[in-house]
Amino acid sequence: SQRVVIIGAGIVGTNLADELVSRGWTDITVVEQGPLYMPGGSTSHAPGLVFQTTSSKTMTNFARYTVEKLQSIEKDGQNCFNQVGGLEVATTPARLEDLKRKHGYTSSWGIEARLVSAEECLKLYPHLNKDVVLGGLHIPSDGLALAARATQLLIERTRDAGVKYLESTPVTGIERANGRVTGVTIPNGSIAADIVVSCAGFWGVELGAMVGLSIPLLPLAHQYAKTTPVPSLVGRDLNKKINGKNAELPILRHQDQDLYYREHGDQYGIGYYGHRPMPVKASSLGLTSKNVDEKNMPSRLEFTAEDFDPAWRETQRLLPMLRDTEIADGFNGIFSFTPDGGPIVGQAPNLDGFWVAEAVWVTHSAGVARAVAEVLTTGRSQIDITECELSRFEEVQLSQEYIEETSSQNFVEIYDILHPSQPKESPRQLRTSPFYAREKELGAYFLELGGWERPFWYESNKELLNYLPPKWKPVERDAWSAQFYSPIVAAEAWKTRNAVAMFDMTSFHRFEVSGPGALDLLQRLSTADVNTKPGTITYALMLNDQGGIRSDIFISRLEENLFQIGANTATDLAYLSREARHHSQKGNFVQVREITGSTCCIGLWGPRARDVINEITTDDFSNKGLPYFGVKQATINGIPVTAFRKSYVGELGWEIQTTAEYGQRLWDIIFQAGKIHGLIAAGRGAFNALRLEKGYRTYGTDMNTEHNPYEAGVAGAVRASKWEDYVGKAALERIPSKQKPSRRLRCLTVNDGRSMVLGKEPVFYNGKAVGYVTSSAFGFTVRKPIAYAWLPGNLDEGAGVEIEYFGRRIKATVVAEPLYDPDNKRLLA
Ligand code: FAD
Repeated sequence: SQRVVIIGAGIVGTNLADELVSRGWTDITVVEQGPLYMPGGSTSHAPGLVFQTTSSKTMTNFARYTVEKLQSIEKDGQNCFNQVGGLEVATTPARLEDLKRKHGYTSSWGIEARLVSAEECLKLYPHLNKDVVLGGLHIPSDGLALAARATQLLIERTRDAGVKYLESTPVTGIERANGRVTGVTIPNGSIAADIVVSCAGFWGVELGAMVGLSIPLLPLAHQYAKTTPVPSLVGRDLNKKINGKNAELPILRHQDQDLYYREHGDQYGIGYYGHRPMPVKASSLGLTSKNVDEKNMPSRLEFTAEDFDPAWRETQRLLPMLRDTEIADGFNGIFSFTPDGGPIVGQAPNLDGFWVAEAVWVTHSAGVARAVAEVLTTGRSQIDITECELSRFEEVQLSQEYIEETSSQNFVEIYDILHPSQPKESPRQLRTSPFYAREKELGAYFLELGGWERPFWYESNKELLNYLPPKWKPVERDAWSAQFYSPIVAAEAWKTRNAVAMFDMTSFHRFEVSGPGALDLLQRLSTADVNTKPGTITYALMLNDQGGIRSDIFISRLEENLFQIGANTATDLAYLSREARHHSQKGNFVQVREITGSTCCIGLWGPRARDVINEITTDDFSNKGLPYFGVKQATINGIPVTAFRKSYVGELGWEIQTTAEYGQRLWDIIFQAGKIHGLIAAGRGAFNALRLEKGYRTYGTDMNTEHNPYEAGVAGAVRASKWEDYVGKAALERIPSKQKPSRRLRCLTVNDGRSMVLGKEPVFYNGKAVGYVTSSAFGFTVRKPIAYAWLPGNLDEGAGVEIEYFGRRIKATVVAEPLYDPDNKRLLA
């Protein structure tokens, strides 16, 4: 067994010890700076409300597992979860609508829930003010985690299983050699380890700093208060009624006013997110392990009553019986917020064997711990953790300024109704392509991703709407799906399909893999045979050991020992870089270099693309000169470029890449030359619709590590005849090739030709929720909305299903894909 050191004995660290023990690992030491009976981190005072459902399937599944596990941790006839249910109430019409959307998530992820009327809310929760509540969402399996107790019981049982615990022992350094951890430093020596997992909660920043790693979390204080006993509840014998767990009503959320509630016997607990963000530096918290108790612990700051005033007023409005009480005890408790609200989980890109599991709520704690234990012991977590990966952040997102601003904003917005496309308002313009000035001149509407400004459509194309043929006219959208959308998208799609358009592809990740070991590395990490002639592009998957998809990439062989990778995320870069390092250490030198920002790229696509290119180059862009999936160096009016013959939108054309300094000139040359051929600049809105018509998947949204290539419909990227071993090959070979997968990513079209869905909605078959939508867009070619969805494998083409959208059922049909140009005639033109 590997020697493991876990830093931190909060709910995450103790769960991790337990998950590792249950997988047979034996050499585990947990090091905690505080006393074990009350370590003093966020867990020590967490009120423990577990609302399981979010828009994230991963997080919801983590929560579901946490509930199951807390129910199974038992002593003296009492487990560690009080399943009182959860009730979210709406006091505004907008929230009432949003609860319908949320109810959709519960169906998508398989959590039982019910939308309830105002009257039913009052039945479930008699103390509510009937004049205030409009309705609610009731989730019977939600409830209260007894987090501190669970931590103690986990310590007990893992200790019995041989886990060593060191209390009042701060880790002061991480020891390493040759790019690997070798142990941790503690005051009176060190502990040797092969794997160190930091479960240090909001101290994670300090632990990261010990190894030069920026941990993108911000400790923020959050107010929690308890009332004096509620007169009408005094004397109620909860002990008898519910086995010593001091609450019987559902946990309650009043998100319109940033509030949540639970009972503590005859007192009430009130949590508030409506106050100003109050950032804290963990290293400044002076308490030592000697003076930790209920009221004094590092994670508990002085209550600032004035910040709580609005919460108290609103509480008395929502729960009139609390007018007879006062605030007995309040505190500003510290826990972690992150730039995108997700936890921080994974191996440090710069140090093998150093792992983190931080910014994790009690709600998700056992789920995250199990995922980490699974990755450590088997190489794969059964629940996809792509969106939690420590390495998901771009470099610019790891700056202190970015972390502070975006994490604080996340605190402010935690209960807000947010549209899935809603961009950050700030910080913006962190990364702009060399075409940015021109795009602005054309009235680009930008949305942000990974710090990049990405045009979604151009106002300059608005007048094209006047010339659109009737069958291309955009259909009216409902108010929600019309947000962050413009009918101009239809015009841009029309131009791409019928003339030619240029798309800014700069923000797509591009890496260079070079050196004598480059081919070996890529052969080992990808499903395709990339030992091709220089000048060839190959579409490939990267899998994990169990055959789950960790990314899909384009590998272009530029020279014998020089490849360019078109990838998805910063996590791809971390993975390739780590594997390259290991390869090089074995003497097979290979280097991975990120070139996204130092280059730029234009997708020039459409039936008239060749007319445009021929105006500005003397290089051969014919089918012979540059066949489909070919790549070559060329010059465009004197500008050195690399031209990739491929297209995400399913039309003839090229991705034309150059280095940043030539970018604006390249844009101008193509734009000018294209005018007489009807060229326009087009944005992401059209791009997404066109790619979906071609059935091209988006990694992360459509497929992830939970899926194998056959289910996801990307088996074409697996080269069956490849004799070289590659990661995931053995696992794929165990999958019977003739057997229909039990679930598949399928293409749906919406029957009425106009009802839009946006993604993550549940899909019903014969009245039963059987799957969920991944991507969606209006399909201009079929003149219907398209939705890709994960569905049972036995649903065949022609099957009628229903998609739930804000409580409404929309009829859709499973159809053959791709919807557009299945023979690739356009691409090969
Ligand atoms: P912690 O419990 O903070 O544990 C980390 C441990 O690491 C600490 O014990 C610390 O002493 C130790 N440590 C740190 N540095 C070192 C070092 N150098 N050496 C050794 N040990 C070290 N979550 C919910 O799900 N539901 C809720 O209702 C909820 N309400 C909350 C209300 C409040 C007021 C607060 C503050 C938080 C709330 N949370 C809630 C969040 C939740 O409490 C935390 O996210 C969770 O407890 C974090 O657990 P953890 O194990 O990661 O961190």
